[in-house]
Amino acid sequence: MVKNIVVIGSSNTDMIIKVASLPKPGETVLGGEFSMAAGGKGANQAVGAARAGGQVVFITRVGEDMFGEQAVNGFIKDGINVDNVISDKTAPSGIALIFVDEKGENSIAVASGANANVSPVDIIAAKDAVASASILLMQLEIPIETVRAAAEIASDNGVKVILNPAPAQPLMDALLKQVSILTPNESEAELLTGIEVKDEKGAERAADRLLEKGVETVLITLGPRGVYAASSEFKGMIPAFSVKAVDTTAAGDIFNGVLAVSLAEGKSLLDSVRFSNAAAALSVTKLGAQTSAPYRPEIESFLS
Ligand code: ADP
Repeated sequence: MVKNIVVIGSSNTDMIIKVASLPKPGETVLGGEFSMAAGGKGANQAVGAARAGGQVVFITRVGEDMFGEQAVNGFIKDGINVDNVISDKTAPSGIALIFVDEKGENSIAVASGANANVSPVDIIAAKDAVASASILLMQLEIPIETVRAAAEIASDNGVKVILNPAPAQPLMDALLKQVSILTPNESEAELLTGIEVKDEKGAERAADRLLEKGVETVLITLGPRGVYAASSEFKGMIPAFSVKAVDTTAAGDIFNGVLAVSLAEGKSLLDSVRFSNAAAALSVTKLGAQTSAPYRPEIESFLS
């Protein structure tokens, strides 16, 4: 029997306005083009995993509004199990308001809404799903006590935990000890360790510090350079694929979702990182977050 990948995290609707220049305080800017897209790190990673062929259970909360309804319809379309997506009566769906200027510079405000209500009680209600998963994948856009409760259940039941520590925040050692694979990007690795991560040497030092804290495997994603991997068996760079990048939004999310799939299929860490690098490279050649998540056949043909 193929076991599930359980993703616990945020779901947002991104509302994007392209502007000539970002509005200053008190200023109104006219002439922008509007678009709306499904986002939120949890949802992006769940969709990334499902399109790469994973059997995904997503645990999140959405509001009882049209944004929540649209998000859930999107998950169903991607074949994601939504039995544990809770419709929250007390909070609206998560919304990100994003301005993007002509240089690609952005300014973002997020109203977490229902995401802030994803609670340890929700995780206990979904305990069987978490305990029987092959992999539990989480990020930090939901309350930290919820992440801790889920990691506790996973580690008690021998379920591998992938934690993408984004957005970055300091993490307690007790949680890090329960993490099988930690996947910070450069700035997240810096925040977690206080060590500057500008090159491979810096990545190595930061990864060593995280291994000392009890993480089993550290994968520091370094954008177009690839991934610095460190575990008791391997240390070194796994290069990215060279592509023409159009939009790097959600590259890290696609990387994490696809990594969970590959590891759940029993592939080695190095093969899984290579496979995920390929999927993330494909994603940066397309605009958007979930819209850029590649499907399994695309990843396979890119690799061959
Ligand atoms: P985040 O989006 O979380 O900041 P990164 O920028 O480190 O994460 O990207 C995650 C992964 O996506 C990288 O390790 C790499 O595999 C891939 N990637 C990102 N940017 C590029 C790029 N310009 N070209 C090819 N691959 C990329």
